[in-house]
Amino acid sequence: MSEHQNNHMDLVIVGSVGIDTIETPTARREDILGGSASYACAAASYFTNVGMVGVVGTDFPQSYMDLYRRFGIDLEGLQVAEGETFKWSGVYEKNMDNRRTLSTELNVFADFSPELPPSYRDVDFLFLANISPDLQLHVLDQVKKPKFVLLDTMDLWINVAKDTLTEVIGKVTMLTMNESEARHFTGEHGLIRAARALLDLGPKYVCIKKGEHGSIMFTGDDIFLMPAYPLEDVHDPTGAGDTFAGGFLGALARGGRVGKNDIRKAMTYGSVVASFGVEDFSLDRLAELTLPEIDARAAAFRKIGRVL
Ligand code: AMP
Repeated sequence: MSEHQNNHMDLVIVGSVGIDTIETPTARREDILGGSASYACAAASYFTNVGMVGVVGTDFPQSYMDLYRRFGIDLEGLQVAEGETFKWSGVYEKNMDNRRTLSTELNVFADFSPELPPSYRDVDFLFLANISPDLQLHVLDQVKKPKFVLLDTMDLWINVAKDTLTEVIGKVTMLTMNESEARHFTGEHGLIRAARALLDLGPKYVCIKKGEHGSIMFTGDDIFLMPAYPLEDVHDPTGAGDTFAGGFLGALARGGRVGKNDIRKAMTYGSVVASFGVEDFSLDRLAELTLPEIDARAAAFRKIGRVL
């Protein structure tokens, strides 16, 4: 967890904070801490100062607030609104690849309007995690001149807000989508064509996520394959993409530079932290993770990934 205690925020993450109920083929966990912002902030906290922007209801357990603080996450941008916290439940099929949403209760998330505290507005690194593209635009309007903005989204917004999503894509440095979303958005089946169509909208980098098979990073003139760290047991893949994004941006913000090699190295850290995250439910594994463990797995991962 973070030892970065000054007030300047190097990384700001805007996303959902939720209470999840998750069923896998072997276990079921009720009312556990989830949401894209939770996973991303926890992952980033190992590398840099991170501020969370989101909303919870008055029912949000104090123990979860305490956990955020133990990670060292700055909570000035986390609103507490009258009502219940966002709730989501989902079930995984046998192979853990396919997931079905059982229920989504927006609750206080329905009227959420992200407001950045003044100290967050000159941030260099920004993650617009999965929320409506309207809200993502509203956040972009509040930041001064970020060095690197990463955008994530989901199928829902491609279906109901494609035009606004296209506008946001045009304003960010890097876009992440999973392969089905990239195909759905662009209408291109081949991932190279899909990535090219997304790059044409404006971002410098497009990262297509392929779940347990890793991800592919595209730039205008380069392709970079990133395997996923091979794990014997995955206990809960929920939030893996957000954990990857948080670890990636945290590592990038720690170095401060955004060249191609910096980005490749940061992707290694993102993948490694995500591989720890899926070893247990919620933030349980991340909460006991240490930097030496991250570095050791990153070293092992570099060996595994080498192509001769
Ligand atoms: P992921 O596995 O990347 O889809 O992220 C899972 C997290 O996203 C869960 O912890 C949920 O609380 C949260 N989530 C589920 N549905 C939504 C939604 N419609 N908007 C924002 N967050 C969501």
